[in-house]
Amino acid sequence: MNQPPSSLHVAPMEKRTEVTIELEEIVLVTSGFARSGTAWCVGCANEVLMVTPAQAAVIARVSVRDINRRVEAGEVHFLETTEGSLLVCMSLL
Ligand SMILES: [Zn+2]
Repeated sequence: MNQPPSSLHVAPMEKRTEVTIELEEIVLVTSGFARSGTAWCVGCANEVLMVTPAQAAVIARVSVRDINRRVEAGEVHFLETTEGSLLVCMSLL
């Protein structure tokens, strides 16, 4: 005779954490830009993930203007691509 499984009652759905949602947003945003990726960072002396100021703003939860201010103040590592666009080092965000 088969015993019914003891776990018949369904566990309540766990609420998805905000962190998960934020991560998905970041992935969504970062996947929309082809320019970001790993690059050599002089400040880190390492190959790190470089993102556009717009992406950095999302990740650091500040405005793009604030990211640009940090770049100008030398608070974050950055590099200029050959096309003249700015990429920001993720290490200090
Ligand atoms: Zn760096």
